[in-house]
Amino acid sequence: MPHSRHGGPRDVLIAALAAVEAAGAPVEARSPVIESAPLGPSRRRYANGVAVVHWAGDPPGLLALLQQVEHDFGRIRRGARWGARTLDLDIVLWEGGCWSDDALTIPHREFRTRDFVLGPARAVAPRWRDPLTGLCVQHLHTRLTRRRRAPR
Ligand code: AMP
Repeated sequence: MPHSRHGGPRDVLIAALAAVEAAGAPVEARSPVIESAPLGPSRRRYANGVAVVHWAGDPPGLLALLQQVEHDFGRIRRGARWGARTLDLDIVLWEGGCWSDDALTIPHREFRTRDFVLGPARAVAPRWRDPLTGLCVQHLHTRLTRRRRAPR
């Protein structure tokens, strides 16, 4: 959703990354922002990007930081699931490998099937390895997009 102060999805994403950095997680690399065209009657648009951030603490500490930034950007929690989304910040991979607790799973459960994650991730961390499959980001992306293009 557009943000009253920051504007459209691309500008929200750029401002969010600046907020992540200001909150204590320096950005080491950032992908280009991928924007989707407006879809359907709602004219909803999305912007996606991936950044490599430095974080000296543990993964729950980084999740808390990301959730604070989401909150500051006005994401509203409605019921069990997040409602209207101005901003969604996820941890995709972690240099320490795997993490699993009630609130957090790393690698992110869905990232291997999401072109809008693997595409930007490939731009900043092509050789970063998924600890579960042993495949690097570049390989996962090629595998996903090749599968999509293959004739049935
Ligand atoms: P979603 O609606 O998909 O953004 O899910 C938000 C919830 O997913 C958060 O409250 C987190 O506790 C949980 N979660 C589990 N794994 C992750 C992850 N790798 N990155 C961010 N949130 C996660």
